[in-house]
Amino acid sequence: MMESKKKYDVIIERGTLLTMVDGEEPIHDARITISGDSIEEVSVRPDSPLPEADEIINAEDAIILPGLINSHGHSAMTIFRGMADDLPLKKWLFDHIFPAEVSHLNPDTVYWASLLACLEMIASGTTTSVDGYFFADGIVRAANKAGIRGLVAQGVIDFPAPGVPDPEKNLDVALAFIERWIHFSDLITPGIFCHSPLTCSAKTLLKAHEISATFHSPLQTHLSETQEEVEEIEKRTGLRPVFYLDDLGLLDSDLIAAHAIHLNEEEIDLLAKSHVKIAHCPESNMKLGSGIAAVGRMLGKGVTVGIGTDGCASNNNLDLFGEMDAAAKLAKVASLDPTLLDARAVLKMATIGGAKVIGLEDRVGTIEAGKKADIIIVDTNTPHMTPLYNPYSQLVYSATGGDVWDVIINGMLVYRD
Ligand SMILES: [Zn+2]
Repeated sequence: MMESKKKYDVIIERGTLLTMVDGEEPIHDARITISGDSIEEVSVRPDSPLPEADEIINAEDAIILPGLINSHGHSAMTIFRGMADDLPLKKWLFDHIFPAEVSHLNPDTVYWASLLACLEMIASGTTTSVDGYFFADGIVRAANKAGIRGLVAQGVIDFPAPGVPDPEKNLDVALAFIERWIHFSDLITPGIFCHSPLTCSAKTLLKAHEISATFHSPLQTHLSETQEEVEEIEKRTGLRPVFYLDDLGLLDSDLIAAHAIHLNEEEIDLLAKSHVKIAHCPESNMKLGSGIAAVGRMLGKGVTVGIGTDGCASNNNLDLFGEMDAAAKLAKVASLDPTLLDARAVLKMATIGGAKVIGLEDRVGTIEAGKKADIIIVDTNTPHMTPLYNPYSQLVYSATGGDVWDVIINGMLVYRD
């Protein structure tokens, strides 16, 4: 009896494959077969004839790697791109961003601005985004339309906020948001984003933590972004921010803290011990003059760190290639040590590191059989990508998001050159 020939949905052939699996070196002339939403097989220089597939991608002159993971952002803030620049964080936030949010945001503007962000992210190689903002239903609708994977969180702050005029109701709104979307799609995890330990009371933080735990959803917050914030929390609570959150019982492996700049050594140790996840946002931190996160020291102590763009109003783009370049160089200039945070380590932060930040490391972040097919293909046949000695260096120091050819998310080819 003739065995019926297997037909795949997508096959990627040739090129240079970076699986981002620990210890694996770049693979030349790989073949990746995809069935449904998952990677079926990764073979090296296969001598078997090319099987049938609906889509065969020839990746010669290209680098194949896991889709990038944006560990921290507020996608709808594309609407404020270039609106208020070159200002200190507090003035920028309270005099420009908060008032603009009140006057400009509604379910429709959040949807369209988030859809623009999804397009920008996908076109520049991001396949998973971690997001937190107001009117979060609009972000989910946009993410679903675009086909991007994501942790989407309803923003919570103890002031009247867009869509939540009564701050007493902010967690009711967040809870209803999670309940609405928890079973909606394999690609979307709904959650809560507490703006910061300064703008959310202890009561709000505790309740947000409790709701998040009920749904096994990561809880996001900004943490120790400015020196001023640290001083105000110390004045209010008598504790530095990380110790304050520890005191509340908030430090655990489901907490994602963005920025984490102004930390002392004991705070880094405590974050490491508590398995808190960090989203490092170098360009936003530079642009707002917030400071430099001690990423090298955090990684050295075993803290999981991903890379985020933050919102477009403080960046002003969502290109993770630029962010990786900035992360590597910022660490070097801050430590006067050019060996710190090499290109491979930075690419790891933007792929499997980001997957660990949101607890999806079993599904995405590397290219391996059985994982979800979130894969990007980057063109190397261009002047600025030639010659190609080291694919990690090329991606971090030479490439931009514009070099991304094809983007596959959950087995779907969602973007083509
Ligand atoms: Zn942020």
